[in-house]
Amino acid sequence: MALPFLFARTTPKLPIMASHEREACCDFLQRLVQTPSLSGQEAAIARIIASEMHAQGLPSVRVDRIGNVIGRYGRPGGPVLLLNGHMDTVGIGNPDAWEMDPFGGEVREGRLYGLGSVDMKGALAAMIYGVGLLARRGVDLPGEVVIAAVVQEEPTEGMAMRVLVEEEGVRPDWVILGEPTNLRVARGHRGRMEINISVFGRASHASTPEEGENALTNAARLIFSLDLLGGGLMSDAVLGKGSLAVTQLITVASGRNAIPDRCDLVVDRRLTLGETAARALAEIEAVMQREAIRGVVEMAHYHSVSYTGYETEGPEIYPAWLMAEDHPLVVAACDSLERQFGRRPALRTWPFSTDGAYTMGEAGIPTVGFGPGESRLAHTANESIRLDDVQRAAQAYAGLVVDLLERLGGEEVRN
Ligand SMILES: [Zn+2]
Repeated sequence: MALPFLFARTTPKLPIMASHEREACCDFLQRLVQTPSLSGQEAAIARIIASEMHAQGLPSVRVDRIGNVIGRYGRPGGPVLLLNGHMDTVGIGNPDAWEMDPFGGEVREGRLYGLGSVDMKGALAAMIYGVGLLARRGVDLPGEVVIAAVVQEEPTEGMAMRVLVEEEGVRPDWVILGEPTNLRVARGHRGRMEINISVFGRASHASTPEEGENALTNAARLIFSLDLLGGGLMSDAVLGKGSLAVTQLITVASGRNAIPDRCDLVVDRRLTLGETAARALAEIEAVMQREAIRGVVEMAHYHSVSYTGYETEGPEIYPAWLMAEDHPLVVAACDSLERQFGRRPALRTWPFSTDGAYTMGEAGIPTVGFGPGESRLAHTANESIRLDDVQRAAQAYAGLVVDLLERLGGEEVRN
């Protein structure tokens, strides 16, 4: 429900970006795309982002222990709204599939092309210019906005946010993720986990297979059974069904003329609401028991080192989360965007996992998504974003900061 009278009474007039500011935002996005930033190699882009935050007038800019760039604006001590964007990208994939330079930042017919343009340097540029607009105009906020430009989201979503919240002590009341929503509001996604399975057999010479037990044959039987398991997983009315996919198989044998005694499989498991890691592991163990396949099922673990040299490790589990349609943050974000765009934005969910797996999925900090660009273009060759959407997002972030901090400071959320 829109609250026009409340806004008219309490919300300051929004400053509007001038055309030279809109153009500067796009030039900045081009520089970001021209700066490669594979996960774990974000040093160069972090420097550019920190210096642009300074240039935009943010009074506090720093780099934390893991390499996140944190810019703040507003009044400390009040409510905190955090805008999240990751600085890293995946690799370019097959270079022949690109029609243009993935690091060129080329603009054609109003779209900027390049790796990370939509996932998610467009949103980062928009956030920095949106908050910069408030800083340059000296808008008085009833709380503080924090822009968190984070590292290593692609391999281990949420990990850098965990460091920020649990080790750096940044405690947001609400979070907006800038992952692409095509300027709609996202309210959740399925979770994911990575599972390692070792299937055992017994080695023998390949000339006498009947003397051994082929672990590869056992793994093949298991893969068929896992496909059947994947077809019958539980479903959530909004987020849909969990899923299971075997994505890697490695055979361990003393040579190509030996019967392998071990096969290692990797499973990508998407978890819908209500599915837990324990349940996902137990389902696979039950299949192996039924099929009399010997082996071990375990959750995978990551160990990574950031560009600042900071080491982290943990289980590869990223929980599902979903915000209720009538949660105060969802309503406030939609009210603000309706006020700005003249039309209430549609609600959606994401098909992929984000830093929200930590902020809402683990830490329980109310989180929504709002960002420019189409998510289907992420992780694809010829990735691109409409520059007009980036400019609209920049303006919209400024409005969201003003409206949401106002709402956070109000009684309806405090009680
Ligand atoms: Zn992303």
